[in-house]
Amino acid sequence: MTGVEARDVALSFGETPALRGANVSVAPGEIVAVMGPSGSGKSTLLHCLAGILVPDRGEIHFDGRRIDTLSETRRSALRRDHFGFVFQFGQLVPELTVEENVALPLLLGGVRRAAALREAQPWFDRLGLAGLQGRRSGELSGGQAQRVALARGLVARPGVLFADEPTGALDSLTGEQVMDLLVTAAREQGTTVVLVTHDARVAAYADRQVIVRDGKVNALVRA
Ligand code: ADP
Ligand code: ADP
Repeated sequence: MTGVEARDVALSFGETPALRGANVSVAPGEIVAVMGPSGSGKSTLLHCLAGILVPDRGEIHFDGRRIDTLSETRRSALRRDHFGFVFQFGQLVPELTVEENVALPLLLGGVRRAAALREAQPWFDRLGLAGLQGRRSGELSGGQAQRVALARGLVARPGVLFADEPTGALDSLTGEQVMDLLVTAAREQGTTVVLVTHDARVAAYADRQVIVRDGKVNALVRA
């Protein structure tokens, strides 16, 4: 199991400061919800922790090593090999079938097609998606599409799953079902989770909640 940490991270977009000295440490296997008002810097913090954005100041550590100083190529390889992603609107590839979408991280990691599709199969039963393997993403309901996105985020057994408003496009019952599946699957495989949400009911699934305000992580609440 692996943890991830931001130390005194600052990042501005032009003149706009998004993060202003943010500190957060997520322990191996821990599920942390990042909450806070719109525009407070939650997504930017997630993108920094995930090695997508490079901070202007501060450090990002993953599995005991510093990653913000790595080249773009090495950060990209690190994301592919160790991180999973789930975003608000699923972002499935419409041209691919559901099972190809789930298998995608394995295919990108160099697993052969037949093996990747085989490895994807258990996720369909596990997430209540049995029978949907051959469908296109456009034929799915919002809740189904988000469960497919979740399967894709976890299929390569990432050390850390980064989820940015993973239930934001769903009604609250469907959202809670997706969260329940996310937390159960992450715990089963020991995946650390960093979850951005503005929804207190979603955050309640986490082990711990942190609040981002004005680009700083300034409150810690036990879930
Ligand atoms: P949150 O996720 O809490 O809504 P964000 O991290 O998305 O907040 O944004 C923090 C601040 O940075 C906001 O003022 C936002 O407008 C700004 N911001 C975020 N991304 C960009 C970008 N790509 N270009 C310019 N400004 C951005
Ligand atoms: P917002 O938080 O502003 O609503 P998203 O969280 O959906 O937007 O934005 C995801 C951003 O991260 C996009 O700019 C996308 O290009 C980028 N992104 C998503 N996954 C990866 C990845 N695996 N590697 C690199 N960049 C990624």
